Amino acid sequence: MQKQQETLTNKSKKCSVYGPVANVYAAANTGSWRLERPKVDFEACVKCGTCEKYCPANVIDVIKDKVECIEIDFNYCKGCGICANECPKKCISMVPERSEG
Ligand code: SF4
Ligand code: SF4
Repeated sequence: MQKQQETLTNKSKKCSVYGPVANVYAAANTGSWRLERPKVDFEACVKCGTCEKYCPANVIDVIKDKVECIEIDFNYCKGCGICANECPKKCISMVPERSEG
């Protein structure tokens, strides 16, 4: 229980802009039960940062000087698809969690 609270507290530090309810939502480890996950076409990505801005769980980092410039923390990604929906280049697709791709 204490470890879980520490995890929530640590995760909440990153997500503090969203308020207490969203912080708990964002801090829930969803890696084991998410149905879909985002897959990025790095060649089409223009590194605009829109996905990072709209992700409600705040788990996307755009690292502009890397070829694979989008890093997603899949321990906490909810599979909601908002990043895919908001991407102006449509270079994020949602794929079934258990697929190979
Ligand atoms: S919104 Fe799309 S184009 Fe913009 S950084 Fe994210 S993946 Fe790349
Ligand atoms: S699927 Fe949802 S939670 Fe996961 S990275 Fe995209 S916007 Fe964030």
